[in-house]
Amino acid sequence: MPAHPSPQAESKDAVDVLIVGAGPTGLALAVDLVRRGVCTLVVEAADRPFSGSRGLSLQPRTQEVLDDIGVMDALREAGRPLPPMQTWRNGRRDGEWRLVERDPQAPVTRYPVQWLVPQWRTQQILQDRLLALGGVVEYGTRLTALHQTDQLVQAELTQTDGSRRTLNMPYLVGADGGRSTVREALGIKMKTEGGALHAAVVADVRVDGLDHDHWHTWPDGPGGELLLCPLPGTDQFQLTTPVGGEEGDPCPQRIRELIATRTHLSATAVTDVQWTSSYKPRTALAERFRDKRVF
Ligand SMILES: Cc1cc2nc3c(=O)[nH]c(=O)nc-3n(C[C@H](O)[C@H](O)[C@H](O)COP(=O)(O)OP(=O)(O)OC[C@H]3O[C@@H](n4cnc5c(N)ncnc54)[C@H](O)[C@@H]3O)c2cc1C
Repeated sequence: MPAHPSPQAESKDAVDVLIVGAGPTGLALAVDLVRRGVCTLVVEAADRPFSGSRGLSLQPRTQEVLDDIGVMDALREAGRPLPPMQTWRNGRRDGEWRLVERDPQAPVTRYPVQWLVPQWRTQQILQDRLLALGGVVEYGTRLTALHQTDQLVQAELTQTDGSRRTLNMPYLVGADGGRSTVREALGIKMKTEGGALHAAVVADVRVDGLDHDHWHTWPDGPGGELLLCPLPGTDQFQLTTPVGGEEGDPCPQRIRELIATRTHLSATAVTDVQWTSSYKPRTALAERFRDKRVF
């Protein structure tokens, strides 16, 4: 399912670089390659673009890179700086504070502050730029196997309907996330630093009774702190809160229950639950970043 027909789409089976994964990494790399005239195809296992707010705070260095590939103006329009934090206790506002203080000694950059944009919007902006340059993203296409020789890489691609095709190309890049099929196919291990932190849930929600000018936090909620961050360009908040053990993606009822038990808001104040996920933060680094023709 190509995102759009384009000049490169017609020749998508004769590519120089196959990028596996249409997350922010794969899309940003594709923009950089296509603008340099490298024939690139992005394949994405999911049937449609990512819809969650997940990574919503762009760091200064990330913004510099995004500026270089021509998307920072659109991202500035789509986002806002980090709002002040608002602590709540016993149903009352209990202090406003800054999550990040400006450091006058910090190196000079055009982008000194973190910039909030929901991840789905960042990906949409990157994809729009890629398509405008003539690039292609093929959704519903999973890399299922890869082999390489000194001359080329052979990738087996499986569509959502189960059909398969094989593609040969000079280079392949794995931008397929933490559980990368590419990394595992090459036998490259992850070096883990420290243990995993507590499990947590994240969700995009509509909530009545809160202003959108603060990142709200209830630090004393039974079971852990709950935070609601306003999502720029939407009437939603991103909820994050720890949970006791690993859970699958929580259902809307579970999200309402967490808000009702950990904040002063009632379950009925939650008027919509758009997207939910669960995660366990950990720090890990791949042992190597290249194996012959695969990055
Ligand atoms: C709760 C939370 C908050 C976060 N907050 C921030 C933040 O504030 N700022 C920040 O910078 N980062 C943040 N992050 C991290 C950020 O979301 C990730 O760093 C980012 O998504 C990584 O992008 P990526 O493109 O490398 O991988 P991903 O976003 O994981 O994308 C990988 C893509 O590859 C696809 N894929 C996987 N396997 C295959 C296959 N075999 N074939 C084809 N496609 C495949 C997947 O479907 C996916 O679309 C946060 C993460 C979480 C969980």
